[in-house]
Amino acid sequence: MPSGDYDPDAAERHWQQEWVENETFAYPEETADPDTAFAIDTPPPTVSGSLHWGHVYGSILQDITARFHRMSGSDVLFPFGYDDNGIASERLTEDELDIRHQDFERREFQQKCREVCREYESDFTEKMQGVGVSIDWNNTYRTISPEVQRVSQLSFIDLYDQGREYREEAPAIWCPDCETAISQVETEDAEQDSHFNDIAFEVVGAESDPDLPAEFTISTTRPELLPACVAVFVHPDDDENQHLVGEQARVPLFDHEVPIIADERVDMETGSGIVMSCTFGDQNDIEWYKAHDLDLRVAIDESGHMTDLAGKYSGMEAASEAREAIVTDLDDAGVLEDRWEISHTVNVHERCGVGVEFLVTEQWYVEVLDKTDEYLAAGREMEWFPDKMFSRYEHWVEGLQWDWCISRQRSSGIPFPVWYCTDCGEEVVADKADLPVDPLSDDPPVDACPSCGHDDFEPEEDVFDTWATSSLTPLINAGWDWDDEAEEFTMERPEIYPMDVRPQGHDIISFWLFHTLIKCYEHTGEVPFDQTMINGMVLDENREKMSKSKGNVVAPDEVLEKFPVDAARYWAAGSAIGDDLPYQEKGLRAGEKLIRKLWNASKLVESLAPEPYPDEPDELREIDRWLLAELDREIETISTQLENREFSKARDGLRSFFWGTFCDDYLEIAKQREDASARYTLRTAHRRFLKLFAPLLAHVTEEIWHQDYGEESIHLTDWPEPLGIEADHDAGATATSVVGVLRKYKSEHQLPLNATIDEVEVYGDVRGFEADITGVMHVDDLSVHPDAEPPVETVVSGIDLDYSTVGPKYGGDVPDIEAGIEAGDYELVDDELHVAGHELDADEFEVERTRELQAEGDLLDAEGVVVIVRNEE
Ligand SMILES: [Zn+2]
Ligand SMILES: [Zn+2]
Repeated sequence: MPSGDYDPDAAERHWQQEWVENETFAYPEETADPDTAFAIDTPPPTVSGSLHWGHVYGSILQDITARFHRMSGSDVLFPFGYDDNGIASERLTEDELDIRHQDFERREFQQKCREVCREYESDFTEKMQGVGVSIDWNNTYRTISPEVQRVSQLSFIDLYDQGREYREEAPAIWCPDCETAISQVETEDAEQDSHFNDIAFEVVGAESDPDLPAEFTISTTRPELLPACVAVFVHPDDDENQHLVGEQARVPLFDHEVPIIADERVDMETGSGIVMSCTFGDQNDIEWYKAHDLDLRVAIDESGHMTDLAGKYSGMEAASEAREAIVTDLDDAGVLEDRWEISHTVNVHERCGVGVEFLVTEQWYVEVLDKTDEYLAAGREMEWFPDKMFSRYEHWVEGLQWDWCISRQRSSGIPFPVWYCTDCGEEVVADKADLPVDPLSDDPPVDACPSCGHDDFEPEEDVFDTWATSSLTPLINAGWDWDDEAEEFTMERPEIYPMDVRPQGHDIISFWLFHTLIKCYEHTGEVPFDQTMINGMVLDENREKMSKSKGNVVAPDEVLEKFPVDAARYWAAGSAIGDDLPYQEKGLRAGEKLIRKLWNASKLVESLAPEPYPDEPDELREIDRWLLAELDREIETISTQLENREFSKARDGLRSFFWGTFCDDYLEIAKQREDASARYTLRTAHRRFLKLFAPLLAHVTEEIWHQDYGEESIHLTDWPEPLGIEADHDAGATATSVVGVLRKYKSEHQLPLNATIDEVEVYGDVRGFEADITGVMHVDDLSVHPDAEPPVETVVSGIDLDYSTVGPKYGGDVPDIEAGIEAGDYELVDDELHVAGHELDADEFEVERTRELQAEGDLLDAEGVVVIVRNEE
């Protein structure tokens, strides 16, 4: 039995170890059945640093879901992954060891990544176990492992075979800091300070043609792109500048001539309405390059430095050094007409914050633009919690401008299983049976080029985008593989696919959810999830985003030193799904109080209904029937709420029912009784409360359960089903409220709880509960009047002025008004107050009313019922 004070530190650590050691949450492989399997596609955190509150918060919501479904009879697969391939882990390694990947042999650098990641991964494990997340630790995966590399390369080959991938030399989005191509989803807008520069361009031949102006103005924030200028554009509706179309312009400082062309994509509102097009400043430049077959003038290289094309600026850092030098020279040459500071939005790489460039490079793409309608429809097939998050998916799909670039010019990642014929360039992909392969060390599957017969090949050196692999988690979890003999794809655990729920943050809908959906959909023809559960972010106390630069980050470790894990779990469940949740200690303190309440109530139940626990008696007292019937209702409500991922509603409803109805009302009644019906009810309700609280307060419920009810983990017991007990809910509620006010009456009159009360009259319906009231409260004579009017009159007992309006409006007359009210010298006419010669409007005062008993006795203040007590003390 629970005794003494609860020690959360010891109990929580104890149960976390027990759960892991006993494999309490292992997925029961052998009994797997699609009808009972419940698979959660947990997000594998990117190994890019320590886990923060966002991870912990999301994991707790997933865990509540897992524990609820496990108790409800499902075989829950709750896996855990470590996403440790790709740029994020590489950059972590570079930062941690203060090195650059370019300075190492690829294998050597990969080794370093592994070492750094391993440390972080054991920290992830510790944290997840430390918040009691019911993960199946037999089902973990690392995205860099050979098994996952095989799945990832299989996926590449399958899409290649389906004709949904292509390699193309074309403008690609490029990060000059990470020195790799990236995809559209990895870019984000950032506000940066810059300058607008008005630069004069000469019109070629103007000196011999009096109709032509000598020059025109181009406004640009990127003067370093002047050497890359390939054309000048004018809008076809721009009457003022139309005569320039068809002429040539001379680029200042660099002196090459470029055509002046009309095109509708020109924004006439910006600058002079005449723009230069370069290789490549933005997406418009790329469109112009394609539409008008323009030259390629590459002035910026892979590392963001100027190329030889930039002449004396060659080798300078483009966005800083070269920009300043060119502006200075433009000024010296007298062609810088104006320059002013601006703040504008630039497209940056989300991982490093550096502005992206567009470089013509050879990259691999997954085709997506041709099927956006289909992918939208597939997204709609899932059930979304909350519903509103679908619009984020929709906006992303509708705003797609690029196919998905999946090749990265980095070191640590999963290699492309591809070689190229050195003679004709033919692409040779690996045999599926041989995967995983690394073309840098493995041979191609053919001796001679299938196209030209040549026998020399070069390996693809690029690696996959990290999302190309993490987008396969449903297939990784399902054990998707290629059976070479049967020549078909197989699944080790077909029963879990499609998975039941994909939980994740709203910040990666465009990254993870979208890419998972399209990949799994293309491989299997099915949407990979039945539903998706999108959690919000954890904000600081003032509802601001936590960030290192703002210094408002609260680390999970610090919090868990101060509070029990169950208190943190209680806090985490306090949001509506999808909403952001501020980190507030008062939320954790409320959790702590509830844990204490549950512990103390359990002790009381134990003392009121000690072992042996009674069987169900032949007849339950009406008040006991009522409590169990109320609890039935509560169980139905909570179950539905948890099904709908309404965590905070379930939490708050359960808490208030437990605290108010069970502890404040019922337990106080039960204290006065010693019968079998009360003992049975106490135990039945107690067991049920523990189970209902188990998904939320996972540790304290396990501790009490073991002390009271046996060896089996509470988390493996069955979720309570309603008992189907009938009772008059309203009469029961009224009766408990009557008992409550009588108890209060006794304590206010310093009467012992077992003191007799002579006479009680109840004007309300407590029929069926009379014996409970008289028995528990020792009432000699109880009379119940369910339909009669009580002898009570409501009288006006005072007037409250609203001084914020009365003060300014009546000024010096206010003392007279007050005196009139004090003396009772006023009249209420309709909604107005007539006093001291004024007529006050209804919103300027409030009428206080009290109930007066028009008979002998004491009128007790009960909710919704009139209780009169007569007692000779
Ligand atoms: Zn970058
Ligand atoms: Zn060839």
